[in-house]
Amino acid sequence: MELSDRILKFELDGFSSLLINPITGAIDVAPKQILDDMPDSAKEHLDSRGYFFSEDERTEILRGLQSTYEQHSQNVPYWFYVLTTLNCNFGCPICYEKQTLENSETTPQKLEKIIKTVSEFQEEHKIPSERMNLVIFGGEPLCASDPNVVRQIFDTSVQHNWKDVIVTNGSRAKRFIDMFVEYSNTISDFRVTLDGPQSIHDARRPYRGGRGSFNDVVDAIELLLENNLRVKMQTILGSGNIQHYDELMSFVDKRGWLQYPNFEWRIEGSHDYANLDPEKDEISEGKIVQKLIQSWEEHPELHGKLKFESFKYLGHITRSFGWLGEYKTYWGPKFGFCEPQKDFHYVFSTDGNIYHCPRTINNPDFYVGNTKEGVVSDEELKHKTILDREDCLPCSINTLCGGGCVVQKKYHPQLNCKEYASSVISEFVDLMKSKILERANPTKIVPINDLW
Ligand code: SF4
Ligand code: SF4
Repeated sequence: MELSDRILKFELDGFSSLLINPITGAIDVAPKQILDDMPDSAKEHLDSRGYFFSEDERTEILRGLQSTYEQHSQNVPYWFYVLTTLNCNFGCPICYEKQTLENSETTPQKLEKIIKTVSEFQEEHKIPSERMNLVIFGGEPLCASDPNVVRQIFDTSVQHNWKDVIVTNGSRAKRFIDMFVEYSNTISDFRVTLDGPQSIHDARRPYRGGRGSFNDVVDAIELLLENNLRVKMQTILGSGNIQHYDELMSFVDKRGWLQYPNFEWRIEGSHDYANLDPEKDEISEGKIVQKLIQSWEEHPELHGKLKFESFKYLGHITRSFGWLGEYKTYWGPKFGFCEPQKDFHYVFSTDGNIYHCPRTINNPDFYVGNTKEGVVSDEELKHKTILDREDCLPCSINTLCGGGCVVQKKYHPQLNCKEYASSVISEFVDLMKSKILERANPTKIVPINDLW
């Protein structure tokens, strides 16, 4: 009896191996000797965790798992990004929207059409209002020359019983604070980015004239917190700030933000799949997750406050080992890569045209509709699960990946996605080797998790 050759097997230290079964979700740490000798007790254990399967059984199990994913999808929120303006008062060197930023604004008339389109979409897809969110986005959305556009969005949300998320650089929070307080019942939260301690943040997020924005962002976060508005502070980790993350943490702690029940901290990885370039700010998912795990262990005060929802390949492994505690998010087999690709995100640009995801604003390759026709299906961008994609169905790591980023595939058709995804996973296993080995037992196979 041999393990299926689709099992991922990583040598850890010459004595133990890590087994990851992308078909049942099983993760086990096994002594190499036991795997070589394969006594009956080991066979029985591995069989009960689904390590021996034929190709036919594999497809059947995958089809069965799809229902877990579909069940989860029934509660996933929808996010309709509404751009008030493409103008921005910051000049961030790392901005992924740089080529798109221009003087273009949404007018009240255009906004009305956008809202009508969103409302028709809700009706057509029978989406309950509690799953409906408008994301007020830009450029910098609060740079809209007519602040009433922002009010119009809030009024619409109150009327439809939707919620609003405001993604802002924080610089104009003070001017809008009365309006925010007035509409606090419809506002779900604010996403404000603080990217490091002062010198690092200022270098990454300067105003257009070059002046640093750190003090203004800090003031904005405090103003929102003091007014009982919910802040999900964001830090986009890249090679330019990851080594300053601990300093930022002590700053946040000293400021007392962790004591606010309305404060949360979301970490994301800097990713620009259209312009993948190792010389740029990107760092691997493995390095970000390792950093978070380290902080999470060293700082119990961060538990419940720190969120990382941008797992692309490492969610299942991290969850199985319990390295970031319990998360209220989906960790099962992945049948889609990211929320836009599962048809839960739509981005309305200032002219009312709809784009696939926030990274593709005004990019004709990712145009998916307009306010006249609504969302029009584009064969290439239409939601396809790993079972519908010819290249993904046979791929051994499909349930860990979910089908890859369409933007990355479009601009890097030569990229071997399986090699790329596998390298992310094996780098992470390597980074976490000593922690994985803490679970090893030289005399038996140690199951790490429950099956899907
Ligand atoms: S690695 Fe590539 S082939 Fe495999 S599931 Fe992901 S996108 Fe599809
Ligand atoms: S398709 Fe998804 S992963 Fe790709 S750039 Fe857009 S949001 Fe990011």
